[in-house]
Amino acid sequence: MFDPNNRRFLYPFINCTNCGPRFSIIESLPYDRPNTSMKKFQMCDECKAEYKNPLDRRFHAQPIACPECGPKVQLLNHQGKTICEKEDAISEAVQKIKEGKIIALKGLGGFQLIVIAENDDAVKILRHRKHRDEKPFALMFPSIEMIKEHCFVSGVEENTLISSESPIVLLRKKSGFRYPVSDIQHQASSISDSVAPQNPYLGVMLPYTPLHHLIMKKLSQPVIATSGNISEEPMCIDENEAIERLSGIADYFLVHNRPIIRPVDDSVVRILKDELMILRRARGYSPLPISITNAAEEDFICVGGHLKNTVSVKKGNKVFLSQHIGDLENTEAERYFCNTISDFKQMYKVNPTYLVHDLHPDYTSTKYCSTQNLKAISVQHHLAHIAGCYEENHLEGKCFAVCWDGTGYGFDKTIWGGEFFSYSEEEFSRVAHFRKFRIPGGDAAIKDTRRSLTGILYEIFGNDIPIAKLNRVIPENELLLFAQMLNKNINCFETTSVGRIFDAVSSLLNICSKSSYEAQAAMMLEFAADQTTLSRYDFNLTDNSIFIVDWQPMFEQMINEIFRGVEASVISAKFHNTLVEIIITLSKKIGLTDVILTGGCFQNVFLLERTIDKLVEEKFKPHWNKLVSTNDGGISFGQAVFANHILKRQNKTKIIQTEKMGA
Ligand code: ZN
Ligand code: FE
Repeated sequence: MFDPNNRRFLYPFINCTNCGPRFSIIESLPYDRPNTSMKKFQMCDECKAEYKNPLDRRFHAQPIACPECGPKVQLLNHQGKTICEKEDAISEAVQKIKEGKIIALKGLGGFQLIVIAENDDAVKILRHRKHRDEKPFALMFPSIEMIKEHCFVSGVEENTLISSESPIVLLRKKSGFRYPVSDIQHQASSISDSVAPQNPYLGVMLPYTPLHHLIMKKLSQPVIATSGNISEEPMCIDENEAIERLSGIADYFLVHNRPIIRPVDDSVVRILKDELMILRRARGYSPLPISITNAAEEDFICVGGHLKNTVSVKKGNKVFLSQHIGDLENTEAERYFCNTISDFKQMYKVNPTYLVHDLHPDYTSTKYCSTQNLKAISVQHHLAHIAGCYEENHLEGKCFAVCWDGTGYGFDKTIWGGEFFSYSEEEFSRVAHFRKFRIPGGDAAIKDTRRSLTGILYEIFGNDIPIAKLNRVIPENELLLFAQMLNKNINCFETTSVGRIFDAVSSLLNICSKSSYEAQAAMMLEFAADQTTLSRYDFNLTDNSIFIVDWQPMFEQMINEIFRGVEASVISAKFHNTLVEIIITLSKKIGLTDVILTGGCFQNVFLLERTIDKLVEEKFKPHWNKLVSTNDGGISFGQAVFANHILKRQNKTKIIQTEKMGA
C-alpha cells in the first residue's frame, strides 16, 4: 500500500488470502465472494487474474479489490453532502482531525468516532455530545513505539497489540495517574486526562485496517477511536443510518461503499500473569468456536444475560459465541440481539432443540424465549459463570467455584452475587455465600452506591446508624430517607452481592458515590488501593449446613479506621486483602484442589492477582476466565456448557433407568 510503484498505492481496501475483512462482510457461509458484501463490485481483469492464480498471494482472496474496481472512500459533511473523494478525502479528514473535529469513520465492523487524543477541548466535546461522562475511551496509536512512550508494555502485551486480532489492550499509563504507591512518578502527559479520567490504564490499539494505517500515518498522533453510537446503543454500520444517528456528534463522516453486514465492536483484552484475558470478545475472536468436551446430541441457542449481552449457538461439540451485543436496555439493542440470533441460526444452519436462558424472569433475553416455540432450559446466573470457566479451563471432576459479581437472580428469588459452589459435570451445590443485606431503591441502587452503604449500615446498626459520623458521605436527610425505606421495607431488595459490597466500601471511603458507568465505583476503589499494604480486616464464618461469610467485623473495623484518619488507600487495600483471605479460608474448609474464580468482580486485577498468588502459595490450583469474558459477556457460553452438563446428566440417568428396568 505504501509502494508508489504498486497499482494499489495508497488504496485502502487491499487484502490477501490470509487477511482482510471476513465476519463483517459475510452474508452466509461458505465464505465466497457472492456470499459477501463485495458481490456488487465486478473484479477488473487484473484483479480477476490474481484471484484465479494459485501462485498469487491474492488467490481466492474474496474481498480482492483495486482502485479500478473496488470500494471508494468519501468525506461527507454532517448533512451527508460529499466534500471530496479518494485520497483527498483521507487527507482532508486527517486535517479536520488535527483541527480537533470529530470524525465518524466507517471502519471494519461499524462506525468509530475519531478525535485527537491530545486536545482536551475536543475530547470534552466528544464526551458531552456522546453523553458519556467518565467511562474511558480507547485510543489508537500510529505505532508500537509511540505506545511505549505513553504506557508500560511487556513482551506479551506487545505481541498481543501487533497480533492479527489487534485488540484493544489495557496498559498501565506511564503518566497522567497519581498512584497511591509513590515509586511511580507523576508526570504531565500529552494525552488529555479526559480520555480515561482517574484511571491508571489506557485501552490502546494499533491500526488494523488499511484505512486506519493511511490515517494514522498521515496523522502521527494518537486518537480516540470509540464506537460510533450514542451512549449504550449498538454501533452504526450504514452511512445513511450513521448520518441520521450521529449527526449530533460527528462533524464529518469518512465513509466508503463496501457494506458492513453486521456490527462487530473492537475486542478488549488485558494480559494477566502473562496470559491473555479477553474482557470483550468481538472483532478478531468472535465468532470462532470453542470446542466443548462430552457434547450432548441436542443443539441449542443460548441467549445470554442482560448486561454486556452475547448469544451462543451450541452445534455438535462446538459453541459459537457471538460478538459483544451490549446492554439490552433499549429497542436498538433488542433489535441487534434478535438479529444476531437469527443471523447465527442461519449462518451455522443450526436446528435447535432448546433455548437456554437466564433464571431471571424479567430479563429481555428471558422474555424473548417465551415468545419462541421451543423448549427452554433456564440456567442460574452464577452457575453459568462457573460452568463456562470450568469448561474453558478443561477441568474434570469436582472443584470449588467462587463466583462474585453485581447481580444474578438466585434460586430463592433474591439477588445473588457473593457465591461459592462445589461444581462438577455431575452435580453442584451452593456451599457458601455472603451474609444477606437489603438495599433500598431497586435498580437505582446500582448507580447510587450510597444505597448499598446504607443497606449494610442498617443491617449492622439498625436505626442507630452513626449519622453524625457519616455526614461527609451521605447528607443526613438522604440517609434518613434510605433508612426509612429499609425500616418499612419499601422497594428494597435482598442481596448477597459482592459487587454491591464494593459499592458500599467505595461510598464509605468517599471515593465514588455515583457510578456513571457499570462497576465504576469498584474500579475506582481498586485503583485507590495501596499495593504495599498486606494487612486485612476480620470476618466471621458461620456454619449451619452452608457457610455464611459475615462482613460485619470488617465494616466495623473500617468505620473505626476512617475516624482514626487512616488513609483511604490503606483501607481499600485491607478490604481487598480481606476478600482474598475469605477465598483462602473457604478453599481450605472445602478442601478441593481446583479453585474457579469467575464473575465480574474478577476483572479487578488487585483482587484476582493476589487471590491467584495466595491460592498457589497454599497449593491450590486457581482457574480464571481467559478466552471468554469473566463478566456477563461470558454468560451465553456458560449457559451452553451448563445446559450441556444437564442434558448429559439426564441422558445418563435415562440410560441407568432403562438398564435397571431391563434388569
Ligand atoms: Zn481490480
Ligand atoms: Fe454476572
